[in-house]
Amino acid sequence: MDEKVIIIGAGLCGALLALRLAQKGYSVIVYERRPDMRKETISAGRSINLALSDRGLKGLELVGIKDDVEALIIPMHGRMIHPLSGSSTFVNYSGRQGEWINSISRSGLNMLLLDRAEATGKVKFVFNVECQEVNFSKGELVLQDTINEKVETVNGDLIFGTDGANSAIRNAMLQASAKYRFDFSLKYLSTGYKELEIPSAINGGFRLEKNALHIWPRQGFMMIALPNLDGSFTVTLFLPFEGQHSFSKLTTQKEIMAFFADHFPSALSHMPDIFEDFSANPTSSLGTVKCYPWQINGSFLLMGDAAHAVVPFYGQGMNASFEDVVILDELMDRYNGDWKKILPEYQHIRKKDTDAIADLAVENEYEMRDATANPIFLLKRKIELHLEQNHPDYFSKYSMVTFREDLPYSVAMKKGRKQDAILMEYAGNLENIDEVDYAFLLDKLKKI
Ligand SMILES: Cc1cc2nc3c(=O)[nH]c(=O)nc-3n(C[C@H](O)[C@H](O)[C@H](O)COP(=O)(O)OP(=O)(O)OC[C@H]3O[C@@H](n4cnc5c(N)ncnc54)[C@H](O)[C@@H]3O)c2cc1C
Repeated sequence: MDEKVIIIGAGLCGALLALRLAQKGYSVIVYERRPDMRKETISAGRSINLALSDRGLKGLELVGIKDDVEALIIPMHGRMIHPLSGSSTFVNYSGRQGEWINSISRSGLNMLLLDRAEATGKVKFVFNVECQEVNFSKGELVLQDTINEKVETVNGDLIFGTDGANSAIRNAMLQASAKYRFDFSLKYLSTGYKELEIPSAINGGFRLEKNALHIWPRQGFMMIALPNLDGSFTVTLFLPFEGQHSFSKLTTQKEIMAFFADHFPSALSHMPDIFEDFSANPTSSLGTVKCYPWQINGSFLLMGDAAHAVVPFYGQGMNASFEDVVILDELMDRYNGDWKKILPEYQHIRKKDTDAIADLAVENEYEMRDATANPIFLLKRKIELHLEQNHPDYFSKYSMVTFREDLPYSVAMKKGRKQDAILMEYAGNLENIDEVDYAFLLDKLKKI
């Protein structure tokens, strides 16, 4: 425990990691470029609320704060699909009891983690300090105070880069890529996103069903909404940057209002400040980062989005980042704190799983945006829910990814894809749901 441990980035992953390392007996110093969000109101960056599910909950349970998190969450039992015409349909996430996802405030969760880490007495957070350069062979970091611009150089025995999707530590690895054979890719989607809001009702209540993730699928684009504790919903519009229906076509008030009136009339009636929100909030891009190796010399390690930023369509980026800490924790026990063994083994076993969730997340854009409006897909979901309700050992791909924290993402992906192919083909040949031969289907699915 004598190692000098430094973490760069006090976001969700860095704060959880700091807390866990402190619980294991390490003294940790965490440098964060933003101000302390517990003292200053700052934009937490991206997405005001997040879907928290079982893999993330396992990480929170590991550090003993699952009960405190209960006070911050709103359970979402399924998707409420809002078609352009006709009434809304609620589709459960799972046919089993006790399986749902949760909406949680990003800043609320981050602040809880900061508090708990600090309360151990072993973690020191230094805010307004940005990591700018890294010397891997010397174990050295160049840091700049973002207020007075003072630059200092610090050394660490063990340095974690949890500095998010645009990681400075990762960028330094990229600069030294020839030496470390560092492989890197960043793939952007043609879709961007903008956050909007459905405020609470006048009496403080929810204007839409509270316990659901709302989706307005529109073939090629979509809008989603997650509930907040104050009765509001954080709405995210996912729309291509260019093309017929795109951000590039929404520049004037008339165009913006007409777009929402044409495509999202049922939501628009709940969005009194739509034009102001649309104009004020940034349009951001979405990308997948894959890179390798994640560790250097048994003393530097990338974790969370810094190692594997994924697009948000499976709601798994934070969950995967928390799972990173769970996996690292298991290896710390297995190798008795020998970091020269822990770090290489960590990247070796973890990479295939984060690659899997990255690919699944890209695929799920289509499922949320287009397939949820497809009658064959809805029929397939009904069949799957029936299977889950009546055969507890059957798990859909969604359930394996979201509720089976015991199953690696790569296994969920492989098995889930095969199940999906069988069920979509079967649903495509059905006239109606009463014709389903569940015994036949189960037999086929068991052979996977
Ligand atoms: C629109 C959107 C919706 C999402 N929805 C979900 C969801 O529903 N469920 C889910 O599980 N995930 C979701 N995610 C993904 C989730 O936000 C990330 O996976 C998660 O935040 C990763 O945590 P992190 O700690 O690795 O990175 P971050 O949370 O980004 O934290 C990185 C921290 O490092 C700091 N930092 C950066 N550079 C430096 C530097 N040079 N020096 C010092 N500090 C630095 C930053 O200020 C920040 O505090 C979503 C993402 C987006 C964009």
